[in-house]
Parts: sequence; C-alpha cells; structure tokens
Amino acid sequence: MISNQLHEIKESLKESVELIAVSKTFPVKAIQEAYNVGQRAFGENKVQEMMEKYPLLPKDVQWHLIGHLQTNKVKYIAPFVKLIHSVDSLKLAKEINKQAEKNERVIECLLQFHIATEETKFGLDLQEAHELLNSETFKEFKNIRFVGVMGMASFSEDLDLVRNEFKRLKSIFDQLKKEHFSNDKSFKEISMGMSGDYKIAMEEGSTMVRVGSLIFGSR
Ligand SMILES: *Cc1c(COP(=O)(O)O)cnc(C)c1O
Repeated sequence: MISNQLHEIKESLKESVELIAVSKTFPVKAIQEAYNVGQRAFGENKVQEMMEKYPLLPKDVQWHLIGHLQTNKVKYIAPFVKLIHSVDSLKLAKEINKQAEKNERVIECLLQFHIATEETKFGLDLQEAHELLNSETFKEFKNIRFVGVMGMASFSEDLDLVRNEFKRLKSIFDQLKKEHFSNDKSFKEISMGMSGDYKIAMEEGSTMVRVGSLIFGSR
C-alpha cells in the first residue's frame, strides 16, 4: 500500500532530506492517495503528463519537473512548477527566465550534471556549468534562481561506482557553492538518489531524494 510504503521510506530518511515522490506513469488516484497521508512534493519527467495531472489535484501539490525539458515546453509549466531539476543549458535557462517573468514569478531550478557512465544521460559537466554561471547573459536573469544541483547515477549493481558518482556530484556542488554562490543561502540542494540507491545518496550528502517505484510499485 502506498501509505505504508511512504511511511517506511520517510522513517529511513534523515530529517534534512526531502522526499520527492516520483509519480510518472502512475494515475492521479495514486497521487491522491499519497497526498491524503501528507505527501506534497511529486516528480514528473514529462511536461505533457504533468499538465494532465495538475488540474486534477489540489493546488498545494508541489510539482517537480525531473526529466529533460525542451525549451518550447517551458511555457506550459511556468505558471505552477515548484522546482525544475533538469536545467542543462544557457538556452533553457534563458527561456525559463523569460516565461517566469511573464508569470511574474521566480522559478527555482537545479543544474543537472552528467555523473553516470552511460552516454545517454543528459547533463552538464563542471566546465559548462562555470561557463553558464559566468556568462553575462545569465547575470541579467532576474526570474530564475538556481538552488542547487541534480544528478543520476549509473544503473549498476556496482555500488562503489554509484557511491563515487554521488561523491562527484557533492564535490561539484561544493565547488559551485564556493565560486558562485558563497553568499547565497538558497543554493543548498543536492538532488540525488532514486529507489535503488537513495540510502547511498543520503550518506553522500543528498538533500532531496527522488523515489518512485518503491512508493508506487513497478512501472
Ligand atoms: C523515474 C525517475 C526517478 C525515480 O525512479 P525510481 O527508480 O522509480 O525510484 C528519479 N529521477 C528521475 C530523473 C527519474 O526519471
């Protein structure tokens, strides 16, 4: 049962770690069930699916976009999205800033890093992140706020590999904090850890875990 699973996972989290319940592919009914026992933060990886679910659920649901985001789709989620975990280019940041301005709000985002060995995963490397944050264009943005970093570890049985990838993301966070956000208290989030590896992620400094199948069942 969803409520039992949620309870069990929450019991295993450090107090400082936020649980994002990843509801992609699961029906509104399942989200409502989690909502009814107090869960508010939900993660979706597709704009279309988030758009369909958004009007059917209470307005205080916090919608986290965790999947790759195309520039032309930002406008659909800009009015209500709580946190975008997947910013991986200046072009995307620019569009988020623009749409946030239209909606008279500031949208909080994470910089997504490529930490896994797999080729297919999206994300920046440290050099690209420095370039983005140092660019004059970025410095003019008033309606986007970076509050941390996000990464996905390799899908691997090799837990040392996974742990080392999380260590790398933590070290990337520390470097960015030092160089770009040393006076910015809101830059504090490290979104890492999924159903299979969230305990390791937590040991390595995660502040947000994105857990789906462990709560809602297998997809
Ligand atoms: C699907 C997904 C998750 C959750 O995966 P589970 O293995 O179901 O916990 C976390 N993060 C991202 C980016 C995802 O796409």
